[in-house]
Parts: sequence; structure tokens; C-alpha cells
Amino acid sequence: MKLLFEKSRPGRQLHILPPLDVPQAPVDPQELRAQPPRLPQLSETDISRHYTQLAGRTHGVNDGFYPLGSCTMKYNPKVNEEMAALPGFTGIHPLQSEKSAQGCLEALYTAEQLLCQITGMDAMTFQPAAGAHGEFTGLLLIKAYHQAQGDLKRTKIIVPDSAHGTNPASAAMVGYQVVSIPSTPDGCVDLEALKAAVGEDTAGLMLTNPNTVGVFDHNILEITRIVHQAGGLNYYDGANLNAVMGVVRPGDMGFDVVHLNLHKTFSTPHGGGGPGSGPVGVKALLKDFLPSPHAVRAGEGYAFERPVHSIGQVKCFYGNFLVVVKALTYILTLGAQGIREAAQNAVLNANYLAALLKDKYDLAVDGLCMHEFVLNLERLKRETGVSALDVAKGLLDYGIHPPTMYFPLIVHEALMFEPTETESKETLDEAAQVMIQLHDLAYQDPESLHSAPHNTAIGRPDEVGAARNPKLRYQEP
Ligand SMILES: *Cc1c(COP(=O)(O)O)cnc(C)c1O
Repeated sequence: MKLLFEKSRPGRQLHILPPLDVPQAPVDPQELRAQPPRLPQLSETDISRHYTQLAGRTHGVNDGFYPLGSCTMKYNPKVNEEMAALPGFTGIHPLQSEKSAQGCLEALYTAEQLLCQITGMDAMTFQPAAGAHGEFTGLLLIKAYHQAQGDLKRTKIIVPDSAHGTNPASAAMVGYQVVSIPSTPDGCVDLEALKAAVGEDTAGLMLTNPNTVGVFDHNILEITRIVHQAGGLNYYDGANLNAVMGVVRPGDMGFDVVHLNLHKTFSTPHGGGGPGSGPVGVKALLKDFLPSPHAVRAGEGYAFERPVHSIGQVKCFYGNFLVVVKALTYILTLGAQGIREAAQNAVLNANYLAALLKDKYDLAVDGLCMHEFVLNLERLKRETGVSALDVAKGLLDYGIHPPTMYFPLIVHEALMFEPTETESKETLDEAAQVMIQLHDLAYQDPESLHSAPHNTAIGRPDEVGAARNPKLRYQEP
């Protein structure tokens, strides 16, 4: 496909500006560039076709099955977009008076109440723009808490080796030393290792439950008790709340801080780089440290408040407000019962797909899973030479987005499937059929999988090269 620059023809322009009807204002010559920018010259037809063709090359939940584990690529109801597009929400200015933005404050306040109910927390901030940003914010809260207690020797955050990579990264960003503890083979916390790791220098523990292998850690109350007893706080990575919302609550598991990924569990389109939202919920002991501003009730209406010991702002204004509106719409349309059913069906779908695959593929952990499961393709690779990457590439030819690959790190040749609750039995049956076909192909014709995909615009890009030496600018030939 040609680039817009290559389609450019001199003089082919979009004449969409009306004639000047105000006095011309002189521009400071110092501000003028020496050469006019070499922008592509195109008609509206050219541009429209270009972007429509590009859009046809991507794959989203509107195109087909997207079982990307840990990312919760559920279908996002269009009514969420309609509500977020209401002029009362989009036509507002962030510096407008609180009095004239009462509806928006009410939306923030109501979303906070509902999400606190769902997580078992006492207060929440909507400032963080994504999950990792929420982790960073949550850890700053933990740090502020210990500092306020005069407890300055707590410099370490404990993170299991099965954790999402953002967890240790966020802890390091906040200036904590990361203590990695080994997991049991099913991704659960090794209690003895945890007991050995906690101490007077423990600021807290970061954990996701269900863990990254899709297993609910049944020792969770014991785990959070051990950390509390050592004087640390418990941080819940709630990016994958889809497995448990409406069923169990992090607040009841002994967690003090939780971040949510509204763009995963609460149904905002994601995967293209945003905007997302990673609200952070806290127990009462951390409430006074929350970022400002924080929407609160004031008389008959709502106002913004600065919590007394606020850590300040982590993003300008109020976070990605329209993502909160989408999440609020989603929660209100489903209701308490619907939220619970969504989680239950997410778990059912994952178990159904795992059951269809387990005769051909090895499950990383046998038995019931939560919202996702991990296949271990080590045996397939040993016997056929076909890797998890090859199978993932093979799926592309069937219009299926690959599952998450090579994560969690504790499983080698991992493929992590998260079908979500919004897929039908037929879609899961078809996907299982394709996976079984690819398995058999691995034994009959491994070469065809080493060279897959065969039907996509781009097959096997040099991913490291693209990340290390990105070409972000068009160079004139
Ligand atoms: C997605 C995810 C994150 C990070 O969320 P971002 O919005 O991508 O920053 C953190 N933890 C887990 C378990 C996740 O799945």
C-alpha cells in the first residue's frame, strides 16, 4: 500500500477554507519557517480511501474473535459511545465553574460510588489514564501513608514472579526496591517464600487475583494477613476484574489499594493506544492522600475537594472523563445482576474453550480456570518444531486475533486465551476447530506454520527492529 506522501500530486488540494473575511494579521517573520512544509497534496477522495483501506487491515472486536489474554477484549456496546458523545459531556470546558458542570461531577461521583461497591473500597480517584498509571498512583499513596506515619524504613515492594510486567516497573518508578518471590507452578503465591520476604522494610505487596495463569489464589486471606502483620499494605492489580466483579471484592480479600482498567473490564475500546482510564480505589486509611480534585457531595449538589494530605495531581484536570462516562453507562445498563453474570459468563466461556482444546494441547494448569487460561506448547514445539509464535501467526489466516504469547514468563511457549463473556458458543466452537486444525498441521506440515501467515498484508515484521529503530518520519526519496 502506498503512503499518502507517495500518492501526493502537486496542486491536488482540498479547498475547504472560506475566503478571508477579517483583517490579515502580520506574523512575526522570526516565527516563519524558511521553507514551507512538504505536506502531501491530496483530494478528499484520496484521503478517505487511504484511511478506509488502512482500517480494513486492522483487527478489532468489531472484526472478529480477539482472545488476547489479560487484555479483556470484550465487545463494547455502542450505547456507551452514544452517552459519552452527549453534548453536555463533550461541550464542556475543564476550567468551567463547578456550579455549571454539576452533571459531570455527578457522573464522577456516581461512578465512584458504584465502583467502590464493586471493589469493596471506600474512595476512588479517576485521574490515572491507564492501568500502569494507576499502579504508579496507588504506590505513591502507599508511600505517602508510610511517610505520614514516620515509617521511613519501608523501601521494598514484594511482587510475585508471575506478575504483569507493569507491576515491578511501577514499583521501581516510585523508587521502591522490588523483591521478586517465586510462585507455585499454578501461579499462586508461595506462602513460605512470602513469609521469608516480609519484614520491617516491606512497604507492600502487589498481586493480581486471579493470577496471570487464570487461577484464583485460595490462600488470599492468609497472604494479605501476612503482609499486614508485617506492617505492609496490599495492592490489588484489578486490571482483570472481569473474572470476579459482582462475585468477590478485593476489599474483602484484605487489599488496601486497587486499580481498575476501565478500558478492559468496563467496556471502553482499547488496543489502539487509548484513551484509557485506571482509577485507583482505596480503603479509608488512604483516602486523605488521594489525588485532587476529588468529586464529593456538597449540600444538594456536588463539588471538587482537595483531600487534606493529597499527593497532588497525577494528570491534568480529572483524568479521561469520557471513559468514565462509558464505564458508568456500562454499569448502569447491566445492573448489579448483569455485572455478576458478565463475570460468570467470562469464566464459563474460558472453561468451555479450555475444555475443547485440552485433548490436543497441554494446559499450563489443569482444572478449572477463571476468566482466562494458558496453554503450554513446549511439547508441541519439541515434537514438531512449531512454536507458540507459529501457532499464533497461523490463527491470523483464519481471521482470529492471536492470544497473548510468551506471558506469563513462568510458562514457556505460553498462549494465553481470554475469550470474554461477549462471545457466542458458535465463535468459541469455530476458534477451537481452527486451533485443532493448526495442531494437526504442526505434525503434517510444520513448514507451512513456520511461514504463516499467508493471507495478511504483513506477515512477520522485525518486531525488535520496529521497536528499537522505528521510522516515524517520511524521508523524501
Ligand atoms: C493490562 C494490564 C495492566 C496494565 O494496564 P495498562 O492500561 O495497559 O497500563 C496491568 N496489570 C495487568 C494484570 C494487566 O492485564
